[in-house]
Amino acid sequence: MSGYADIAARLEARLAELAARAQGVEAELRQPLDDDLPEQAIDLSDDEALTGIDAVLRAEAAEVRAALGRIASGTYGTCANCGAQIPHARLEAQPTAARCIACAA
Ligand SMILES: [Zn+2]
Repeated sequence: MSGYADIAARLEARLAELAARAQGVEAELRQPLDDDLPEQAIDLSDDEALTGIDAVLRAEAAEVRAALGRIASGTYGTCANCGAQIPHARLEAQPTAARCIACAA
């Protein structure tokens, strides 16, 4: 088995955290708008900010899922661009990295 069990556990934990945060954001977005007009404007700009956060959370969750998929399929730790082995230290620092430092630069 690969030596990525610890990283897989961290990715799983991160995914759970992202899912929990996304749920919180969605709960906020579902709240009805305030009847008071100035408040409504604030709610709307809040919603825009929340939608942005939601997109960021989704993008990171997708990266984490892709990394877990690479661990499952045995391609994790191999640069998606040049095929070189990605140093373990880089994966520790950035578990979702799909490329070696040279290709990511
Ligand atoms: Zn590379």
